[in-house]
Amino acid sequence: MMAFLKLLARNRLALAGLIVMSIVVILAIITPLLPLADPDVTDTANRFKPPFSQEALLGTDHLGRDLLSRLMYGTRLSLAVGFAAAIIAATIGAAIGIIAGFYGGRTDNIIMRGVDMLMAFPYILLALAIVAALGPGLMNALIAVAAVNIPFFARNIRGITVGIAHKEFVDAARLAGMNDARIILTEILPNVIPVIVIAMSTTIGWMILETAGLSFLGLGSQPPQADLGSMLGEARSALITNPHTSIVPGAMILIIVMAINLLGDGVRDALDPRLKSGALERPMPTTRVQRTTEVPAAEGDPILALQKLKTQFHVKDRVYKAVGGVSLKVHPGECLGIIGESGSGKSVTALSVMGLVASPPGVITGGAVRFKGEDLIGAPYETLRSLRGEKVAYIFQDPLATLHPLYTIGQQLVEAVQSHHKTSRDEARTLAIELLKSVRIPNAENRIDSYPHEMSGGMRQRVGIAMALANDPEVIIADEPTTALDVTVQAQILSLLNDLRHERGLAIVFITHDFGVVAQLCDRVAVMYAGRIVEQGTTQEILDVPAHPYTKKLMECVPELGGGRRRLEAIPGLPPVVDKLPAGCAFADRCHKVQPACREGRLELAPYNGRHLVRCKFPETTQQELAQ
Ligand code: ADP
Ligand code: MG
Repeated sequence: MMAFLKLLARNRLALAGLIVMSIVVILAIITPLLPLADPDVTDTANRFKPPFSQEALLGTDHLGRDLLSRLMYGTRLSLAVGFAAAIIAATIGAAIGIIAGFYGGRTDNIIMRGVDMLMAFPYILLALAIVAALGPGLMNALIAVAAVNIPFFARNIRGITVGIAHKEFVDAARLAGMNDARIILTEILPNVIPVIVIAMSTTIGWMILETAGLSFLGLGSQPPQADLGSMLGEARSALITNPHTSIVPGAMILIIVMAINLLGDGVRDALDPRLKSGALERPMPTTRVQRTTEVPAAEGDPILALQKLKTQFHVKDRVYKAVGGVSLKVHPGECLGIIGESGSGKSVTALSVMGLVASPPGVITGGAVRFKGEDLIGAPYETLRSLRGEKVAYIFQDPLATLHPLYTIGQQLVEAVQSHHKTSRDEARTLAIELLKSVRIPNAENRIDSYPHEMSGGMRQRVGIAMALANDPEVIIADEPTTALDVTVQAQILSLLNDLRHERGLAIVFITHDFGVVAQLCDRVAVMYAGRIVEQGTTQEILDVPAHPYTKKLMECVPELGGGRRRLEAIPGLPPVVDKLPAGCAFADRCHKVQPACREGRLELAPYNGRHLVRCKFPETTQQELAQ
């Protein structure tokens, strides 16, 4: 609740609306307690007194009634009727919408055609017809206003419910044996309540206006009872001669409706969960950079070099050090593996390269990323944009989430090509078919017109790879591209990537948590833990003599085909949370060789066996043992 108010308060206009509305509502509630004149007592001797006259602050109307008193009681009544109509319309409309959306099929058809019939009549005409049928009176006006707004809620909520009713968590609830009523109450309703509140907050203003409209026409509140609409209606005949009698209720309607609408917009923004973490800010096109020191260029001639890269997430007053000083190099034609448990910072490292970490909350706080020697951290957006996909391409884990569901894969491949090269549509399409063939999609000429949902997971992943290859990049960063696939498809994709790097001299950064995959594809490996590299060396060295206890444990997690009966080891405990990293070795709490010395001081990545680097005080095999 506090968080909600805080978010709301960031929107100045909404805050102003909230303050105005609170004052109006509080005044309306305490009206009977205030020392006001009786709003219905007529005093024809004192007709049309101007505002600020004695005993009548806002003047009097055509029957000499105190306008201030009538305004207060009228506001009270108008607000009460408006809110009541909104709540009734929202409750009934949402119930209809949920039932139609949840059951679908014929139920949906019958209900929604009924709703359509209501919607076919012009809004105010329908309200007039209802009041005409029921007879004039405030209660009937309320019913009419609520009734004409029900279709709006029903349509809105039905749409949302249809989307939710087919989600996996609803299926899971069904599998758990819940009945429909319980599913609607515990699974669907919590998801639609924010939408109902949003729809209500944006329509309450309308409902107050509509009620006022009916009263204005004499169909709502009946004399002598005052509401804002009837006050306007009665003042109509004196509009020119005594304008204050119209201005007083008119200004109040304006204030209320404006305040409610501003507040409603703010509520809508603050309730949208997608806007919560980003706090209503637009994500920036590149990751924010807050770097104090420059890093000198890397030695050798790598195509891509990460140097002491530090990426953090600044969430409120917490700092998550997702990447804490990572240095890596890849050369053309080389494949570098990054391996580590889930949450060790692999993806954030990969995304930092092209400034793709979402900001807020991501911030690159130090280090450099050099592509062919040029530092990309803090480079202008245009530079990064021209490199993204053209020179450095990504393959992501979940291709269904990265492919657009409404375009065919052909359209998306053509777009990928055309965003960097001026080619005709036909040429791009021919190229796209070539690409699909190169990733071994059978029958590429026909499959190019398929939508992502028409393909299997392995095929979609291959489309993802084809898209990464579209502009013949020099570096491919593959973030767990095979994790969601079965082993046979995985093997095909690995051999495909392997061929490509030999054929095209592609440099590959391959992220995985599976040592089996690393062994098949990578020349060198970096092992990550809690945002840092704990061991780095050639694949052979690391597979032969893993130095860090963590590396050894990771390898023991991999089953071997035909490797005899061996217990598969799991690593006890969980990776540390990266906003409070312990001193010394981050792995200490889970390590079987831990010593008191491990928990002190800073631990550096030190040479261990030739070019092999390790960040551990007590490696698995000591230097002496190695020498023997
Ligand atoms: P993985 O190695 O599985 O790819 P990630 O690189 O995705 O791990 O995440 C590294 C760390 O960064 C994790 O501890 C994660 O909790 C944290 N992290 C990732 N995204 C955010 C975010 N938007 N806000 C805060 N922390 C994040
Ligand atoms: Mg990841």
